[in-house]
Amino acid sequence: MAQVSLQGITRHFGNVTAIKDITFDIPDRQFWVLVGPSGCGKSTILRTIAGLESISSGKLYLGNRLVNNVPSRQRDVAMVFQNYALYPHMSVGENLAFGLKMRGEDKQKIAKRVQEVARSLDIEHLLKRKPKQLSGGQQQRVALGRAIARKPQVFLLDEPLSNLDAQLRDDTRVELKQLHQRLQITTVYVTHDQVEAMTLADRVVVLHDGQVQQIGSPQAIYASP
Ligand code: ADP
Ligand code: ADP
Repeated sequence: MAQVSLQGITRHFGNVTAIKDITFDIPDRQFWVLVGPSGCGKSTILRTIAGLESISSGKLYLGNRLVNNVPSRQRDVAMVFQNYALYPHMSVGENLAFGLKMRGEDKQKIAKRVQEVARSLDIEHLLKRKPKQLSGGQQQRVALGRAIARKPQVFLLDEPLSNLDAQLRDDTRVELKQLHQRLQITTVYVTHDQVEAMTLADRVVVLHDGQVQQIGSPQAIYASP
Protein backbone atom coordinates (compact mmCIF):
# COMPACT_ATOMS: atom_id res chain seq x y z
CA MET A 1 0.00 0.00 0.00
CA ALA A 2 1.19 3.49 -0.74
CA GLN A 3 2.19 5.42 2.36
CA VAL A 4 1.58 8.78 0.68
CA SER A 5 -0.94 9.02 -2.12
CA LEU A 6 -1.67 12.21 -4.01
CA GLN A 7 -4.66 11.91 -6.29
CA GLY A 8 -5.21 14.83 -8.63
CA ILE A 9 -4.22 17.52 -6.15
CA THR A 10 -4.63 21.15 -7.17
CA ARG A 11 -3.99 24.24 -5.09
CA HIS A 12 -4.91 27.75 -6.15
CA PHE A 13 -3.79 30.96 -4.45
CA GLY A 14 -6.20 33.55 -5.82
CA ASN A 15 -5.74 33.24 -9.56
CA VAL A 16 -2.29 31.57 -9.27
CA THR A 17 -2.35 27.78 -9.65
CA ALA A 18 0.60 26.68 -7.50
CA ILE A 19 0.15 22.96 -8.23
CA LYS A 20 -2.15 21.31 -10.73
CA ASP A 21 -3.49 17.76 -10.84
CA ILE A 22 -0.53 16.26 -8.97
CA THR A 23 -0.81 12.48 -8.85
CA PHE A 24 1.70 9.99 -7.46
CA ASP A 25 1.91 7.18 -4.89
CA ILE A 26 4.92 6.78 -2.63
CA PRO A 27 5.33 3.21 -1.36
CA ASP A 28 6.13 2.64 2.30
CA ARG A 29 9.77 3.32 3.27
CA GLN A 30 10.83 4.87 -0.01
CA PHE A 31 12.79 8.10 -0.37
CA TRP A 32 11.33 10.40 -3.02
CA VAL A 33 12.92 13.64 -4.19
CA LEU A 34 11.05 16.57 -5.76
CA VAL A 35 13.06 18.71 -8.18
CA GLY A 36 12.36 21.56 -10.59
CA PRO A 37 12.92 25.28 -11.00
CA SER A 38 12.02 27.82 -8.33
CA GLY A 39 8.28 28.42 -8.22
CA CYS A 40 7.33 25.05 -9.78
CA GLY A 41 5.37 23.97 -6.69
CA LYS A 42 7.79 21.81 -4.68
CA SER A 43 7.21 23.53 -1.34
CA THR A 44 3.47 23.66 -1.88
CA ILE A 45 3.39 19.87 -2.33
CA LEU A 46 5.39 19.30 0.87
CA ARG A 47 3.29 21.76 2.82
CA THR A 48 0.13 20.12 1.51
CA ILE A 49 1.31 16.69 2.71
CA ALA A 50 2.17 18.27 6.08
CA GLY A 51 -1.28 19.83 6.32
CA LEU A 52 0.07 23.38 6.24
CA GLU A 53 -1.80 24.19 3.01
CA SER A 54 -5.37 23.38 2.20
CA ILE A 55 -6.28 21.48 -0.96
CA SER A 56 -8.41 23.14 -3.66
CA SER A 57 -9.28 19.80 -5.28
CA GLY A 58 -8.07 16.20 -5.26
CA LYS A 59 -7.44 13.65 -2.52
CA LEU A 60 -4.53 13.10 -0.17
CA TYR A 61 -4.06 9.81 1.70
CA LEU A 62 -1.49 9.01 4.38
CA GLY A 63 -1.59 5.25 4.61
CA ASN A 64 -5.24 4.35 4.16
CA ARG A 65 -6.49 7.54 5.81
CA LEU A 66 -7.98 10.36 3.74
CA VAL A 67 -6.41 13.46 5.34
CA ASN A 68 -7.75 16.36 3.23
CA ASN A 69 -9.43 17.85 6.28
CA VAL A 70 -7.12 16.52 9.00
CA PRO A 71 -5.13 19.30 10.70
CA SER A 72 -1.35 19.17 10.66
CA ARG A 73 -0.94 18.27 14.33
CA GLN A 74 -3.17 15.23 13.85
CA ARG A 75 -1.01 13.89 11.01
CA ASP A 76 1.94 11.68 11.88
CA VAL A 77 4.42 13.71 9.83
CA ALA A 78 7.66 15.51 10.69
CA MET A 79 9.03 18.38 8.63
CA VAL A 80 12.45 20.01 8.48
CA PHE A 81 13.14 23.32 6.73
CA GLN A 82 16.37 25.09 5.80
CA ASN A 83 16.44 26.72 9.20
CA TYR A 84 14.90 24.75 11.96
CA ALA A 85 14.86 26.22 15.46
CA LEU A 86 15.83 23.88 18.29
CA TYR A 87 14.56 24.28 21.84
CA PRO A 88 17.28 26.62 23.15
CA HIS A 89 16.95 25.77 26.84
CA MET A 90 17.24 22.01 26.26
CA SER A 91 20.41 20.03 25.64
CA VAL A 92 20.91 18.22 22.35
CA GLY A 93 19.94 14.95 24.00
CA GLU A 94 16.74 16.48 25.39
CA ASN A 95 15.93 17.96 21.99
CA LEU A 96 16.32 14.54 20.39
CA ALA A 97 14.20 12.89 23.08
CA PHE A 98 11.45 15.51 23.10
CA GLY A 99 8.98 13.95 20.65
CA LEU A 100 9.39 10.51 22.19
CA LYS A 101 8.78 11.88 25.68
CA MET A 102 5.65 13.68 24.51
CA ARG A 103 4.40 10.36 23.27
CA GLY A 104 5.01 8.76 26.63
CA GLU A 105 7.61 6.24 25.44
CA ASP A 106 9.51 4.48 28.21
CA LYS A 107 12.93 5.74 29.26
CA GLN A 108 14.89 2.79 27.94
CA LYS A 109 13.35 3.03 24.51
CA ILE A 110 14.00 6.78 24.40
CA ALA A 111 17.64 6.34 25.39
CA LYS A 112 18.13 3.68 22.74
CA ARG A 113 16.57 5.71 19.96
CA VAL A 114 18.48 8.87 20.94
CA GLN A 115 21.75 6.91 20.78
CA GLU A 116 20.84 5.38 17.42
CA VAL A 117 19.95 8.74 15.87
CA ALA A 118 22.97 10.52 17.40
CA ARG A 119 25.31 7.84 16.08
CA SER A 120 23.86 7.99 12.57
CA LEU A 121 24.25 11.78 12.46
CA ASP A 122 27.65 11.83 14.17
CA ILE A 123 26.47 14.02 17.05
CA GLU A 124 26.99 11.56 19.90
CA HIS A 125 29.71 13.76 21.41
CA LEU A 126 27.33 16.76 21.49
CA LEU A 127 24.45 15.29 23.48
CA LYS A 128 25.09 17.36 26.61
CA ARG A 129 25.55 20.70 24.85
CA LYS A 130 23.00 23.45 24.37
CA PRO A 131 22.04 24.50 20.81
CA LYS A 132 23.85 27.83 21.10
CA GLN A 133 27.11 25.95 21.70
CA LEU A 134 26.81 24.25 18.30
CA SER A 135 27.75 25.32 14.77
CA GLY A 136 24.97 25.85 12.23
CA GLY A 137 25.71 22.49 10.63
CA GLN A 138 25.58 20.69 13.95
CA GLN A 139 22.29 22.40 14.79
CA GLN A 140 20.78 21.27 11.51
CA ARG A 141 21.85 17.69 12.24
CA VAL A 142 20.13 17.87 15.60
CA ALA A 143 17.02 19.27 13.90
CA LEU A 144 17.02 16.32 11.47
CA GLY A 145 17.51 13.91 14.33
CA ARG A 146 14.78 15.46 16.43
CA ALA A 147 12.28 15.29 13.59
CA ILE A 148 12.96 11.67 12.74
CA ALA A 149 13.64 10.22 16.22
CA ARG A 150 9.99 9.61 17.03
CA LYS A 151 9.63 7.66 13.76
CA PRO A 152 6.88 9.65 12.07
CA GLN A 153 4.85 7.92 9.38
CA VAL A 154 6.23 10.43 6.87
CA PHE A 155 9.35 12.61 6.93
CA LEU A 156 9.30 15.85 4.87
CA LEU A 157 12.41 17.89 4.12
CA ASP A 158 12.56 21.21 2.28
CA GLU A 159 16.14 21.86 1.11
CA PRO A 160 17.53 20.89 4.51
CA LEU A 161 21.18 21.06 3.43
CA SER A 162 21.14 24.25 1.38
CA ASN A 163 22.47 26.51 4.13
CA LEU A 164 25.47 24.28 4.87
CA ASP A 165 28.89 24.70 3.31
CA ALA A 166 29.96 22.18 0.68
CA GLN A 167 31.89 19.74 2.88
CA LEU A 168 29.26 19.71 5.59
CA ARG A 169 26.54 19.27 3.00
CA ASP A 170 28.28 16.15 1.65
CA ASP A 171 28.77 14.66 5.11
CA THR A 172 25.23 15.40 6.24
CA ARG A 173 23.80 13.98 3.03
CA VAL A 174 25.64 10.70 3.58
CA GLU A 175 24.46 10.58 7.20
CA LEU A 176 20.90 11.34 6.20
CA LYS A 177 21.02 8.38 3.84
CA GLN A 178 22.32 6.12 6.60
CA LEU A 179 19.63 7.39 8.95
CA HIS A 180 16.98 6.61 6.36
CA GLN A 181 18.39 3.13 5.84
CA ARG A 182 18.28 2.48 9.57
CA LEU A 183 14.86 3.91 10.38
CA GLN A 184 13.16 3.24 7.01
CA ILE A 185 10.74 6.16 7.15
CA THR A 186 8.86 7.18 4.03
CA THR A 187 10.52 10.44 2.99
CA VAL A 188 9.73 13.32 0.63
CA TYR A 189 12.67 15.62 0.01
CA VAL A 190 12.86 18.89 -1.94
CA THR A 191 16.14 20.01 -3.46
CA HIS A 192 17.79 21.97 -6.27
CA ASP A 193 20.87 19.79 -6.03
CA GLN A 194 21.30 16.99 -8.56
CA VAL A 195 23.89 15.18 -6.43
CA GLU A 196 21.41 15.00 -3.57
CA ALA A 197 18.70 13.71 -5.89
CA MET A 198 21.01 11.10 -7.42
CA THR A 199 22.40 9.78 -4.16
CA LEU A 200 19.28 9.86 -2.00
CA ALA A 201 16.30 9.13 -4.23
CA ASP A 202 14.47 5.91 -4.91
CA ARG A 203 12.39 8.04 -7.28
CA VAL A 204 12.73 11.57 -8.59
CA VAL A 205 9.67 13.67 -9.42
CA VAL A 206 10.43 16.46 -11.91
CA LEU A 207 7.99 19.36 -11.63
CA HIS A 208 7.38 22.16 -14.07
CA ASP A 209 4.87 24.99 -13.71
CA GLY A 210 3.02 23.19 -10.94
CA GLN A 211 2.68 19.94 -12.85
CA VAL A 212 4.46 16.59 -12.85
CA GLN A 213 6.71 16.42 -15.88
CA GLN A 214 8.47 13.12 -15.21
CA ILE A 215 8.80 10.45 -12.50
CA GLY A 216 11.61 7.92 -12.57
CA SER A 217 14.67 6.44 -10.95
CA PRO A 218 17.59 8.89 -10.66
CA GLN A 219 19.42 6.83 -13.29
CA ALA A 220 16.54 7.25 -15.73
CA ILE A 221 16.02 10.95 -14.98
CA TYR A 222 19.67 11.94 -15.15
CA ALA A 223 20.86 9.52 -17.84
CA SER A 224 23.01 11.34 -20.37
CA PRO A 225 21.18 11.46 -23.69
P1 ADP B 1 8.91 26.04 -5.17
O1 ADP B 1 8.93 25.45 -3.81
O2 ADP B 1 9.07 25.02 -6.26
O3 ADP B 1 9.86 27.17 -5.32
P2 ADP B 1 6.30 27.01 -4.37
O4 ADP B 1 5.53 25.80 -4.06
O5 ADP B 1 6.89 27.81 -3.26
O6 ADP B 1 7.45 26.63 -5.43
O7 ADP B 1 5.40 28.00 -5.23
C1 ADP B 1 4.64 27.58 -6.37
C2 ADP B 1 3.87 28.76 -6.89
O8 ADP B 1 2.82 29.10 -6.00
C3 ADP B 1 4.70 30.03 -7.10
O9 ADP B 1 4.17 30.69 -8.22
C4 ADP B 1 4.43 30.80 -5.81
O10 ADP B 1 4.60 32.18 -6.01
C5 ADP B 1 2.98 30.43 -5.55
N1 ADP B 1 2.67 30.48 -4.11
C6 ADP B 1 3.15 29.66 -3.15
N2 ADP B 1 2.66 29.96 -1.95
C7 ADP B 1 1.84 31.02 -2.14
C8 ADP B 1 1.01 31.82 -1.28
N3 ADP B 1 0.94 31.58 0.04
N4 ADP B 1 0.30 32.81 -1.85
C9 ADP B 1 0.36 33.05 -3.18
N5 ADP B 1 1.10 32.35 -4.03
C10 ADP B 1 1.83 31.34 -3.53
P1 ADP C 1 11.02 28.95 -1.30
O1 ADP C 1 12.36 29.63 -1.18
O2 ADP C 1 10.92 27.63 -0.59
O3 ADP C 1 10.49 28.89 -2.71
P2 ADP C 1 9.44 31.27 -0.88
O4 ADP C 1 10.38 32.32 -0.38
O5 ADP C 1 9.00 31.26 -2.31
O6 ADP C 1 10.02 29.86 -0.48
O7 ADP C 1 8.13 31.27 0.00
C1 ADP C 1 8.19 31.37 1.40
C2 ADP C 1 6.76 31.44 1.94
O8 ADP C 1 6.01 32.43 1.25
C3 ADP C 1 5.97 30.14 1.77
O9 ADP C 1 5.18 29.97 2.91
C4 ADP C 1 5.11 30.37 0.56
O10 ADP C 1 3.90 29.64 0.64
C5 ADP C 1 4.86 31.88 0.62
N1 ADP C 1 4.79 32.45 -0.73
C6 ADP C 1 5.48 32.08 -1.82
N2 ADP C 1 5.14 32.78 -2.90
C7 ADP C 1 4.19 33.67 -2.48
C8 ADP C 1 3.44 34.68 -3.11
N3 ADP C 1 3.55 34.93 -4.42
N4 ADP C 1 2.56 35.39 -2.36
C9 ADP C 1 2.42 35.13 -1.06
N5 ADP C 1 3.10 34.19 -0.40
C10 ADP C 1 3.97 33.46 -1.09
